Amino acid sequence: MAGIDRFVRRRSRAAFAIWVALYTLLVVLPLPLALIRLDPGRGFWINLSVAFGFVGLAMFGLQFVMVARSFVVVHPVGMDLVLGFHRQMAYLATLLVFAHPIILFVVDTRFLGLLDVFTSPMRAKFAVASCALLLAIIVLSVFRRRLRVSYEAWQITHAVLALAVVVTALAHVLLVGYYVREWWEQALWIVLSAAFVGLGVWVRLLKPVLRRRRPWVVESIDRDIDAVTTITIRPKQTADAVRPGTHSGPADLAGGLWRPFHFEPGQFAWLQARRSAFALTYHPFSISSSAEHPEHIRFSIKAHENFSRDIAELVPGDTVYVDGPFGAFVLPPAGPIVFVGTGVGVTPLLSMLETLADRGDTRRCELWLGNRDERSIAGRSQLEALEQRLDLSVVHLLSRPSAEWQGPKGHIDAAFVRARLPLAAEGSSFCICGPDAMMDEVERTLADLGVHHDVIHSERFGMV
Ligand SMILES: Cc1cc2nc3c(=O)[nH]c(=O)nc-3n(C[C@H](O)[C@H](O)[C@H](O)COP(=O)(O)OP(=O)(O)OC[C@H]3O[C@@H](n4cnc5c(N)ncnc54)[C@H](O)[C@@H]3O)c2cc1C
Repeated sequence: MAGIDRFVRRRSRAAFAIWVALYTLLVVLPLPLALIRLDPGRGFWINLSVAFGFVGLAMFGLQFVMVARSFVVVHPVGMDLVLGFHRQMAYLATLLVFAHPIILFVVDTRFLGLLDVFTSPMRAKFAVASCALLLAIIVLSVFRRRLRVSYEAWQITHAVLALAVVVTALAHVLLVGYYVREWWEQALWIVLSAAFVGLGVWVRLLKPVLRRRRPWVVESIDRDIDAVTTITIRPKQTADAVRPGTHSGPADLAGGLWRPFHFEPGQFAWLQARRSAFALTYHPFSISSSAEHPEHIRFSIKAHENFSRDIAELVPGDTVYVDGPFGAFVLPPAGPIVFVGTGVGVTPLLSMLETLADRGDTRRCELWLGNRDERSIAGRSQLEALEQRLDLSVVHLLSRPSAEWQGPKGHIDAAFVRARLPLAAEGSSFCICGPDAMMDEVERTLADLGVHHDVIHSERFGMV
C-alpha cells in the first residue's frame, strides 16, 4: 500500500478515512444479510469461502464507481488517489475471489470436478469463465507496456473484460442461488445490479450527452516548443452555453446540481477532440492558465504516440469536449511556495503562478524548473512575464544547454535540492510535478532535510 500512503499523507486524512469507511461498508453489506438465515450445516470454511466470493464481487462492482469520474466520489480525495486505490483494491478483490474456490477445493476435493467445464453445471461454467476473464484483466494491466498494448486498446479491453467478469460472477451467484433465496438477499443484489447498470448509463450515456451539449472550441494553437503544443479553448457559441461569468463549460449532474466550470489552479481535465463526445478514451491534461479566467482555458501538451501527437494537428474552430475539473493538487492557501517542475510538468505550476498574479498575491515564490535545453522550456515567455508581476524568482536548470548558456546545468536531483533549500523562504510549501524519478528523488530529499510531508504537494502524470 506504499503508493497510497504517500498520497494520503498529503490529503485530508479525515476525508480519506470517511471515504474508506464508506467503501468498506458497501463491500461487506452482503454479509450480514446472508448471515440472517445462515445454514450452520455447511461448515465454517465453506461459509467463509462464500463470504470471500461475495466481498470480492461487491468490490468489483465498486471498481466501476471509482473510475466513473463522478465529482462526489473523486473530489474528497483526488483522482490519483482514487485510481491508486482502484488498482490496489483490484488485487485484493482478485485474491478474495480466487480464495473462494481454493478453500472449497481444499475443504472438499469433490469440488475440483466443477473445473471440468465440459461436464460441470452452468453455475460452475460461469464461475470458471469469470475467473479466467479476471486473470486476463490482471495480466493485461500489469504487463500492458511490455505487451505493447496502446493505452486506448487497453482501456477498451479493460472495460469490456471488467463488465464480463461482473456479469458472469452475478450469473454464478444467481444460479447457485444459495445465498439469494430470501427476499432481502434478492432485493440487495437487484439494487446493486440496478445501481451498476445505472452507473453505466450515467458514465457512457448521460455524461457524454451533457458534454456534447456544452462543447468547447479551439481558439488558438501555439507550437513554439519542441514536441509541445499549447491550445487555448473557450466555450462554443451554443444556445445554452454562455452566460457571462457563470457556467461556460461541461457540467456535472452529480447529486442533481448544475456545477459552474470553475477550477482550482493546479487541477486537470479530461479532453477529447475530433471524436464523438461518446468516445471511450479521454486524456487528462493539467490546465495551465489562470483560474481567474475560466472562460478561456489553456493546455500545453507534449506529443507521445497517439492523441497527444494528434493534438498538434488541431486548428482553430475544432470542437473539444472537456470533462472536469479534477484533482487535489491545488494552490496551498497561504505562505511562500517553492514550485518544482521538469519539462511539461510545468503546466499546473503555470496555472498556480498565473492565478497568484491575477489575484495580486504578494507571497514569496520560487520556481526550480528543469529542461533539456533553451528551446525546450515550455511556458518560458509566460514565466518571464510572471517574474514582473510576482515576487518570483525562476531557476532554470538545463541538462544539455547550448554553449551560450550561463545558467546552472544538470538535473533537479538530491544535490540540487540540498543546495537550493537553505535559500528558500522559511516555511515554504512545495508543489512538485514532473517525471516519477525526479519527483521521488525531490520528495525523498525534502523529507530527509526535515520538510514536513503536509507541505509537500505533488501531481504525477503517470496515473495509469
Ligand atoms: C493528472 C494528469 C495531468 C496531465 N497533464 C499533462 C499536461 O499538462 N501536459 C502533457 O503533455 N501531458 C499531461 N499528462 C499526460 C497525458 O495525459 C498523456 O501523456 C497523454 O494522455 C498521452 O496520450 P497518447 O494517446 O498520446 O498516449 P500514448 O502514446 O498512447 O501513451 C503514452 C502514455 O500516456 C499515458 N496515457 C495514454 N493515454 C492516457 C489516458 N487516456 N489517460 C491517462 N494516461 C494516458 C499512458 O501511461 C501511456 O503509457 C497528464 C496526465 C495526468 C494523469
